[in-house]
Amino acid sequence: MLSILFFAGLVLLLVYHLRSSRDLQRSLQDSEKLYNSIMVASPDGIVITDLAGRITKASRAALQIFGYTEAEALGLCVFDLITPEDRKRARTEMIQKIRGTYNGETANYRVTRADGDVFYLEVNAKNIKDLANNSLGIVMVCRDISKRKQQEEDLAESNRKLAALSATDALTGIANRHRFEEMLDYEYSRHIRLERELAIILMDIDHFKAYNDFYGHVKGDECLRKVAKTLEEGVFRSYDLVARYGGEEFVFILPDTSIKGALLVAERIRQDIVNLAISHEASDTASVVTASFGVVSSYCTAGRKAFDIVEEADKMLYHAKSSGRNQVASDQKEFTWEPDNIYFTPLRWNASYSCGNSLIDEQHQALFNSINELLKIVYSPSFFEKVVGHVEGMLNILATHFRDEERILYDVGFPEVKNHAREHEKLFKIAQYLLQQYKESRLPVNNLFLFFAYELIEQHVLRVDSTFYNTLTPKLKVD
Ligand code: GH3
Ligand code: MG
Ligand code: MG
Repeated sequence: MLSILFFAGLVLLLVYHLRSSRDLQRSLQDSEKLYNSIMVASPDGIVITDLAGRITKASRAALQIFGYTEAEALGLCVFDLITPEDRKRARTEMIQKIRGTYNGETANYRVTRADGDVFYLEVNAKNIKDLANNSLGIVMVCRDISKRKQQEEDLAESNRKLAALSATDALTGIANRHRFEEMLDYEYSRHIRLERELAIILMDIDHFKAYNDFYGHVKGDECLRKVAKTLEEGVFRSYDLVARYGGEEFVFILPDTSIKGALLVAERIRQDIVNLAISHEASDTASVVTASFGVVSSYCTAGRKAFDIVEEADKMLYHAKSSGRNQVASDQKEFTWEPDNIYFTPLRWNASYSCGNSLIDEQHQALFNSINELLKIVYSPSFFEKVVGHVEGMLNILATHFRDEERILYDVGFPEVKNHAREHEKLFKIAQYLLQQYKESRLPVNNLFLFFAYELIEQHVLRVDSTFYNTLTPKLKVD
């Protein structure tokens, strides 16, 4: 009985064993099928290599990607297919991937195809282990990403082009060098036709490398932004342009501006930068951030290049630097800036200054008289209080005049009326600012006078306003 039971038990065990080994075989066959269909159907290339990286199996897609037949591929070392520039990195990163220590994004390398073409391959790798945890080889899943790379490169290239085409500098928000070059060409051609002077100011912050070294780049950037804002506020004519020329260098285009006017603007801006009072402990020149200026004003001729003026300004900037920095330099001696010793001459009205509108002409003459009055006050004893009172009165005359002139220009349909009004607004703000500086004893009286005599009268009334004279001159009636 016992032996029957024992025998029956043995039979059952045998049947069980036979069934489970059949199951095992079937499941082996199933996974073989699955494996084969993955190898055939996967759009990504699958490559199996031994531990040295030699190919033992390659999927259909992998053979297509690399351009080899199966017979050619077997035995090749995958690392030999990678270009020499990327090979070392590929080996290191593959080892990291297999160990699970790789923490970059998807790895990609340049690979040489059988026909010699180089393409970009994205690779993922994993160790193959047996049940006893021994490494048998490596499975690599790879994808040709040349198209995507090309698209990325095209995008980067068009972004670069777009940045160059855009008009503003990313750090400071003011015009960039591209915009400057465009405007320089435009203004140069316009000035050849106009037969007027074009002024260029090049400006460079002093000891800025030392500033960055001492305070760090973040502070350096902040300083550049503050300076750029001051520069933009320092010019007021609608056609004036301030641009970042590069690094800590800035450039101004001042259309239709004499050397006097340009020197005046440069000097005012030099002072504005000092007044910003940005500490610069590492400067050899001053305790605050300062800048040097090179100024040129020139009639434009077809025989010269626009850029010649910039080069001259650059030479002047070099002079300003080598003569001690924090100064304005020009070799045009028509006007020398000596803040405490300026010889003023009264303004004289001339019939050619009439624009054809009696109210505007009256107001322009009133401004001439008021400025001459200011000159007399400056030469009288204890003038400080008198100057303040007189300039406050002048600002009232100016406000009324600007308002009337804008209304008249608007009524006659002067096309530049909006720009002109903007220029008035800036001029007025600067006048108020200078008066305030004078009241606080931060500005010599000469500068105040020069602003009214040269910037308001010579640059604005006599130059800019002359652009609307044609609009206002009564037309002859022909019956
Ligand atoms: P100099 O008075 O002769 O003009 O001396 P400098 O140190 O100002 O001139 P240099 O041309 O030797 O150095 C310019 C420095 O400007 C180099 C760099 O540190 C700094 N710089 C240029 N561009 C930038 C920028 O975008 N951001 C910051 N933070 N610094 C800049
Ligand atoms: Mg510098
Ligand atoms: Mg520089």
